[in-house]
Amino acid sequence: MIRKLYPEGRRKAFNISYDDGVIQDIRFVELLNRYGLKGTFNLNYGLMRSGFTWDHECGMTVRRIPEEQVVAVYQGHEIASHSYSHPYFDIATETDILKELGSDKFFLERLFGREVAGYATPFYYYSDLMVACVRHCGFEYARISEESNDYSVPQDFYRWRGSKFHWDEDLADFVRGFLETDEELALCQLVGHSYDLDVMNLWETMEQICRWVSENSDVWATTHLELVRYLRSMSLARLENGKITNESSTALWFEVDGKVLKLMPGEKFTLG
Ligand SMILES: [Zn+2]
Repeated sequence: MIRKLYPEGRRKAFNISYDDGVIQDIRFVELLNRYGLKGTFNLNYGLMRSGFTWDHECGMTVRRIPEEQVVAVYQGHEIASHSYSHPYFDIATETDILKELGSDKFFLERLFGREVAGYATPFYYYSDLMVACVRHCGFEYARISEESNDYSVPQDFYRWRGSKFHWDEDLADFVRGFLETDEELALCQLVGHSYDLDVMNLWETMEQICRWVSENSDVWATTHLELVRYLRSMSLARLENGKITNESSTALWFEVDGKVLKLMPGEKFTLG
């Protein structure tokens, strides 16, 4: 029996994708770092720059991490685009969308000095036109504002649903289920904003989740982009005529009859 695995022969992947770049991310990044986990942080360059704030209905003022601090705060984690100014895109023209996406990517890359290849859509609106614009701007995936509520990898990387919104009541049970599932290439990606942890008093639950995940050696703690790239490479593995061939340019991992197999680019393995 052949089973696809994640890097280093792991069976599960875990990622946290948080939006808006708010000040609670500072505490959250510390939490991830303490447990050796990786986050994907989706930022709006325009709002970070202008010092935009808004008042949550609970009375809290939601603030963004200022431009001068973000590079240090997010070291070691993925930076992705969340559009330049977090607009409602429902009445936007193609030019508006390209400007919002292209400028956010450009300025974030300049500020961080690294590649920004992921996108998470602001609010809920998403369309075929937006998919075309996301691709045109060179993004490799787009996370939309929907949850799959299961442990499968989304089929469409440009309409990528996160696994679970962290404000769901069954959050802890969902993660426990993930750690126990035997699904091939199981994935748990939690989605939200770190200010929700203050508002909903979720810090303790999140810390417990980080601890569980870090204690499980079967979990690949990764960024969204690393995950997408590995999955694309995995789609270039050819399994036929009793052979597995790695036609990608990265190492791929499989389990064959209970044994972990690492296949280098171009390498073939004949099933015995
Ligand atoms: Zn947002």
